[in-house]
Amino acid sequence: MLDFATKITSWYKINKRELPWRNTNNPYFIWLSEIILQQTRVDQGMAFYLKFVHEFPTVKELAKAEDETVLRLWQGLGYYSRARNMHFAANQVVNTFDSVFPTSFQYLIQLKGIGKYTAAAISSITSSEKHPTVDGNVIRFISRLCGIDEPVDKLSTIHKIEKIASELIENHDSGLQNQAMMEFGALVCVPQNPICSDCVFMPFCKAFAMQKQSIIPIKQLKNKSIKRYFNYLY
Ligand code: SF4
Repeated sequence: MLDFATKITSWYKINKRELPWRNTNNPYFIWLSEIILQQTRVDQGMAFYLKFVHEFPTVKELAKAEDETVLRLWQGLGYYSRARNMHFAANQVVNTFDSVFPTSFQYLIQLKGIGKYTAAAISSITSSEKHPTVDGNVIRFISRLCGIDEPVDKLSTIHKIEKIASELIENHDSGLQNQAMMEFGALVCVPQNPICSDCVFMPFCKAFAMQKQSIIPIKQLKNKSIKRYFNYLY
């Protein structure tokens, strides 16, 4: 699409929410935020992020903490396997990467609790690697923009969206653009009543042209699909 990168990054620079993990290039802090925010709202996750950064300013300090201490700090966030995986991964970084948090997708993906999405987010933000971050917000935004009316809990549909997202970040600042697309999906192309009247992409949006914004993305999300879908994404 003509000038997509300019449009989305310009919008982002003006409209993004000021969040503490956006003011750092430290892969450890970005990783903490990504793990805490999985299936958690930003306003809820913020206090936990600040608490973890304060208590464990380095991955080494997180690694050497007692399990009980980590789980106590996590209390209230739910999904305790995330905290256990996070603690395990901190020890992997200490033992395998000499306490230097990796910034490359190929190493990040080896850490427990890190899937394609998280590895893409950290590697694109911290080292400009060209990996698209295809989270729920990006899936919704791209599927509406491109009028993809296939169920998004099918891997073939996700692969199609990943391909489009990859093409969109090619030759651009992937970290900035990934963050911009996620933020756009979170603030403008929202699940219910997207703010099409304020959307810079409205003239190109296929869902808008067909008036299918409330139908797309199509979700089936039943039974095993839900687990497979989240396992694949995160
Ligand atoms: Fe989303 Fe509406 Fe913009 Fe299309 S026009 S991308 S549905 S906000």
